[in-house]
Amino acid sequence: MKSNLTRRSVIIASMSLTIAVDLGGTHIRVAAYPPDSTGPTKHQRTRSHANEPGVYERVVQAIESVWTNEEVSAIGIASPGPLDPYTGTILATPNIPEWQNFPLAPKLSKRFGVPTYLDNDANMAGLAEWKFGAGKGHHNVIYITISTGIGGGVIVHDHLLQGFRGMGGELGHMIIDPDGPLCGCGKNGHVESFCSGPAIARYASEQIQAGQTSSLPAQGRLTAAQVAEAAHAGDALAISAFSRAGHYLGIAIANYLAIFDPSVLIFGGGVSQVGDLLFKPFEESLRKHTFHQHYLDDLVIAKAALGDDAGLLGALALARLKMGVQ
Ligand SMILES: [Zn+2]
Repeated sequence: MKSNLTRRSVIIASMSLTIAVDLGGTHIRVAAYPPDSTGPTKHQRTRSHANEPGVYERVVQAIESVWTNEEVSAIGIASPGPLDPYTGTILATPNIPEWQNFPLAPKLSKRFGVPTYLDNDANMAGLAEWKFGAGKGHHNVIYITISTGIGGGVIVHDHLLQGFRGMGGELGHMIIDPDGPLCGCGKNGHVESFCSGPAIARYASEQIQAGQTSSLPAQGRLTAAQVAEAAHAGDALAISAFSRAGHYLGIAIANYLAIFDPSVLIFGGGVSQVGDLLFKPFEESLRKHTFHQHYLDDLVIAKAALGDDAGLLGALALARLKMGVQ
């Protein structure tokens, strides 16, 4: 009896739409996907105004805007964390101040009458790259996104690593040097505090303040994009800022290789777009710090393939996995 019911629910799920939500600090993106497809039937992008009250109502409206007459089997959500994917609760996210211990998935599930699943945006991007992007066909994947912060998603033997509390895979907050720079999370010396965009810009600023010569402006707040531009034009200090980040990234990834032993490393996020400036010193550092060279045999190093759609497609993949359809 039970297996018949399960089969029936799988058949229903396989015939109806899945709605995916990518919740960001600036935008809410929502899309409705037919079965077996990553091409949405409807797609909506609205501003989240995350600092203002009413974010939940804006999410509801965005979902309604893609909800057609067809049956919907589930909703999947990619959201900034920290959050609890098992209860569907946002614990506290600096991007959305009004949400403290906010039961987002249960509220949406009650509102729309369908199962609703939630996980953090980096995990979802990793899941999407594994299912549909640069990690397709691999069974052990490390996805790392390097932008204003550093996030990660880890696939171990075809399973998304979530952990006991759903807080696994926080690759950006591994400690590289306990006396290192202040991280975005408030602790010191994490990977993010050496390798994120703001960390690279901060290091360049500090060196200029300390008297190093550079074509970069000595006054005002630098960005990683400015440092990259100066580096491409041959500025030695700017080049060294990326070399330093690459060096620490190599140490971080050497640690991850020892723990997870992946067959592919996938790099996403704006800072990853700088290319050799970061990745030449990274690869040199990785070779130097990996404790056994066998980890590097057939290791694929790839750029993320899904761009801005990674969060949405990850939310889609999560909902389909939970519903038992691929
Ligand atoms: Zn941190």
